[in-house]
Amino acid sequence: MSLSSESFDKKENCGLFGIFGDPEAVDKTYFALHSLQHRGQESAGIASSNGEVISCYTGMGMVRRVFRVGSGALEHLRNPVAIGHVRYSTSGSSKAINSQPLLAEYSRGQVAVAHNGNLINAALLRDEYEAYGSIFKSTCDTEVIIHLLAKPTHVCRPDPLAHVLNHLQGSYSLVFLYPDRIEACRDPYGIRPLCLGRTKEGAHVVASETCAIDAVGAEFLREVEPGEIVTLDKGGLSSRFFVPRGSVTPAHCLFEHVYFAKQNSTIFGENVHLFRKKLGRRLAIEHPVEADVVVPVPDSGTSGAIGYAEQSGIGFDMGLVRSHYVGRTFISPDPKLRALEVTLKLAVVPDVIRGQRVVLLDDSIVRGTTTRGKIRALRQAGAKEIHMRVSCPPIRFPCFYGIDFPTKEELLANGRTLEDIRRFLEVDSIGYLSLEGMLACASLPADHYCTACWSGKYRIPVQIALNKFTMERYQMYMFEQMDV
Ligand code: SF4
Repeated sequence: MSLSSESFDKKENCGLFGIFGDPEAVDKTYFALHSLQHRGQESAGIASSNGEVISCYTGMGMVRRVFRVGSGALEHLRNPVAIGHVRYSTSGSSKAINSQPLLAEYSRGQVAVAHNGNLINAALLRDEYEAYGSIFKSTCDTEVIIHLLAKPTHVCRPDPLAHVLNHLQGSYSLVFLYPDRIEACRDPYGIRPLCLGRTKEGAHVVASETCAIDAVGAEFLREVEPGEIVTLDKGGLSSRFFVPRGSVTPAHCLFEHVYFAKQNSTIFGENVHLFRKKLGRRLAIEHPVEADVVVPVPDSGTSGAIGYAEQSGIGFDMGLVRSHYVGRTFISPDPKLRALEVTLKLAVVPDVIRGQRVVLLDDSIVRGTTTRGKIRALRQAGAKEIHMRVSCPPIRFPCFYGIDFPTKEELLANGRTLEDIRRFLEVDSIGYLSLEGMLACASLPADHYCTACWSGKYRIPVQIALNKFTMERYQMYMFEQMDV
């Protein structure tokens, strides 16, 4: 889990994996989902095919809980083709009915689908289908894709999937499992990452991040291109485009690089750790300060802090340490209990901090309340000065493309000056990396990234007010296996 002091505010999105034609496909999917656990801890699931029938098992909680030893879940799935999903809810609440892959049966047979992203027109599409009597069993945006696939006027198209994808708006990396194949695709903007790999034995894999490809001992081939559908089947790997190739300027989520993706992953053509180091170096140039030690907020602030320390010549040290054993505990509405939970996960090393002028480096600040809690803990430990440095610009706008940010009003930087923020955080100085500085660190041209949460410039217009509960119009009472 990519945990920072702000980890209660900016949640991960989802992680995907698929593998075709490997006797150990299900076990490899299980390991791959572990490596993608930082992208979602609310639910996990695997669907597999024996060539004729799809089996699916999903549950609430982290991968090791859903597929715990002795549950028999993996044994029942053992087939040579599999897809998997870890979820953090960005559309639809955290309930068993929304866990993925979603499995359905329609006139063309079975299909299971796993989604990373957010469909901004899902509520409108759902309204249309419900007006004609369709019944939805979940409250997540992904289910509309199944209804689109099953629509008789879509089924008869030469390429039903390509036709359906042209109805979707928003961000989507998708992995579909049919009894005889896997199809994976990425929205025309390539907002969320999706990568291809191949095992030593020749099985093709698809994954949200390259860390999952590494986790199963496969080699990275390339990224799925924006607007591309890849098919993994007995014939190997084939590709087609559902929008003309290169017709849309990409809008890769730059926040994936800043916070979400794992440091050992390569996404959008660049290693995440090295990119974050560049951000830290640039931050040191833009916001230098006299100090004794650079302290990261682990883990996502660590790479940036190394870069800041290298550039500034100030020593780097671990003044905060993360517990790797707490995992997902609870998120209490009580601020006091929330603070205790943060303390449990991130502890101060007093001997590093006492009497020091500290540069505290975090990858980003969303609400700021938990960051302030850590700053107070550093003061209590005897820090002489605390200089907050943030390796991205102030976040002033919500995300509608698959990241569950708080509302605009809850964002610390919304409507506040830098001096307001400095006083709120109770630090001696504050410096955010500029948008230009951040984009200058990226290897692709500036207009190839989405920067909406910093700039307010949304590449895909959002027509209706959206939040993650947009489709939760009715309270559904279902007995769920609670396993968190
Ligand atoms: S708004 Fe921010 S978090 Fe959302 S896709 Fe754009 S860059 Fe990523």
